[in-house]
Amino acid sequence: MPASSSVKRNPADSAAAKTSRGAIRCRFCGAALDHEIIDLGTTPLCENLRRQETPDAAETYYPLRLMRCRSCGLTQLSVSADPQEIFREYPYFSSVSSSWVAHAKQLVQSMDARLSLNGKVVIEVASNDGYLLKHAKVAGARVLGIEPALNVASVARSLGIETISKFLDAAVADEIVDQHGSASWLVANNVIAHVPDLNGFVSGLEKLLAQDGVLTIEIPHLMQLLANRQFDTIYHEHYCYFSLAALTRVLAQHGLEVFDVEELKSHGGSLRVYAAHTGQAAWDGSRNVAALLAREREFGLEDDWVYDQFAADVNDTRRKLLSFLLNLQEDGKTVAGYGAPGKATTLLHACGIDKHLLPWTVDRNTYKQGHAIPGTGIEIRKPDEILKEQPDFVLILAWNLAREITQQMKAVESWGGRFVIPIPQLTIL
Ligand SMILES: [Zn+2]
Repeated sequence: MPASSSVKRNPADSAAAKTSRGAIRCRFCGAALDHEIIDLGTTPLCENLRRQETPDAAETYYPLRLMRCRSCGLTQLSVSADPQEIFREYPYFSSVSSSWVAHAKQLVQSMDARLSLNGKVVIEVASNDGYLLKHAKVAGARVLGIEPALNVASVARSLGIETISKFLDAAVADEIVDQHGSASWLVANNVIAHVPDLNGFVSGLEKLLAQDGVLTIEIPHLMQLLANRQFDTIYHEHYCYFSLAALTRVLAQHGLEVFDVEELKSHGGSLRVYAAHTGQAAWDGSRNVAALLAREREFGLEDDWVYDQFAADVNDTRRKLLSFLLNLQEDGKTVAGYGAPGKATTLLHACGIDKHLLPWTVDRNTYKQGHAIPGTGIEIRKPDEILKEQPDFVLILAWNLAREITQQMKAVESWGGRFVIPIPQLTIL
């Protein structure tokens, strides 16, 4: 498919286009987006893995520019790739990561203690393979998943978790409430950044939530992305990059109020935000909310210099990783990757790295094995291959799981192999 038919301006853009031809508009408030934070070049869709045996098939590339709305503070991409193309077949099975399954179980236990889930309706948006709802079901809740990716949704159904394969918007929310009732606990983990029609999606959340229900949203935190130079978490599947302040404004516009927040270590630093219908807080977490909003202001999220510094730091990391791999090759050393997460596509493209500098990587996800990282030709093999080939260096592309990986692969030390972590800056362990 040619890029022009798949790249869509965000919905707020069409009305504005008449008065300001070519201007890009904020997907939340519609103001002109004129602050470019960084241009990472062009990349294919990061989860669009290709089979090794079809190296000549064309790949579609999209510009990857991070912008910030000076009017509402929402950080976002300049263009939207078509979600139908991205999310129909999704090679990410949440249950593959043992730490993520444990994370989901803990969340269910803590919400069960707070809300007594037995007999209540629990709905999860982007429920993936049922990694979370299976625990809610054990707690006695009536569970429903919403998951557009057909392959992962069918795994959830095989576990007995009713799952609707649609993209959430206001109309879909009305249908669900008619058939299943509204949610006492509505879960939206790592999904709100993935929706191109932000206002339609949040209005769907508002409709799904029972009057006294609690909505939990997990998002990677923009402040951590900037502080730790996590530029590889910028990719086309993530349309928006939220601060607590920006998310609070979006929810408030749709009658939802943030009443508590926690900081999490997942995905390089995330927030778990608790929201309810305005004025219906289930408990008082206002101190946590006020404290984090103050820290975001102190960090400088509302000032341009923070974004300029981020861009300079990222460009430094890009240069250093490329020159490290060039030098290894000059010295006749071998290197393999560990992990083939979506973010590897951004990291490798932004740094100018392909199979000539990193011939192969490994991943525990059997679905990814036998494919190549989009646009790079870098083969994805089974983790055992590292033990067999004994490379001099192992570049951890899934750096957020670095601790888990270095423990599982302790054997690398036995032949003098070294682990390398690319983010926040090149570190040789
Ligand atoms: Zn805006």
